[in-house]
Amino acid sequence: MLRVDHVDKSYGDEEVLHDVSFEMESQDVEVIVGPSGSGKSTLLRCVNRLTEIDDGAIYLDDVEIHDIDENDLRRRVGMVFQDFSLFAHRTARGNITLGLEEVLGLSSEEADARAMDYLERVGLEPQADSYPAELSGGQQQRVGIARALAMDPELILFDEPTSALDPELIGEVLAVMKDLADEGMTMLCVTHEMGFARSAATTLTFLDEGRIVERGPPEALFDDPEHDRTAAFLGDLT
Ligand code: ATP
Ligand code: MG
Repeated sequence: MLRVDHVDKSYGDEEVLHDVSFEMESQDVEVIVGPSGSGKSTLLRCVNRLTEIDDGAIYLDDVEIHDIDENDLRRRVGMVFQDFSLFAHRTARGNITLGLEEVLGLSSEEADARAMDYLERVGLEPQADSYPAELSGGQQQRVGIARALAMDPELILFDEPTSALDPELIGEVLAVMKDLADEGMTMLCVTHEMGFARSAATTLTFLDEGRIVERGPPEALFDDPEHDRTAAFLGDLT
């Protein structure tokens, strides 16, 4: 469903992604790990064209993403951000209805009903009319996930969704993500939560200096890595 094919990306003289290739099937959960600055966020941003690649190609269901209308692409590929990226002046419900009305063209009644369904799904129905500042970080991130889900995407990108959270709030967000994985959502996740990687990932990729060093089933990378760098990096995390 997603094919990243020999992708290169530079910022000025700095090559941030170098010959990155991998494929995901529908319902796969791909977890990407790597040191700070290794290009993880850049890779996610290339997939939904928040950033343009320099060379190579990215295909969604065999169609090159430049041949997909940008609005369509953003609807089909959801994104959940590290800093939640909620609209501060809109309620939890209002954060979800915005895209439903403006991108999907739903009526406000339809958008409202759908927003409530997804808030319920992440356990936040009672907070529907709260503003982001009135919610905990974990609750805000669950709104972020509900907002992505409500667009009925084919793939959701997660960029370190729990790294801005206090430790005691991480679990509630990971639980929502694990449920999604179990329900067959196709997910491309940058996260250093190795418990999640072990329990939910179909594939684990170690990215270093813009290159894929090693990629495979999580247990293979954890228990029998091919490269010393993989072992050293994962060893530090777990
Ligand atoms: P982190 O774990 O810290 O989030 P990352 O693996 O997500 O790191 P990226 O954010 O993809 O790394 O950044 C990769 C490299 O590209 C870094 O050296 C960064 O400084 C550089 N970079 C990222 N975005 C830009 C930009 N818009 N302009 C210039 N350089 C950038
Ligand atoms: Mg990043």
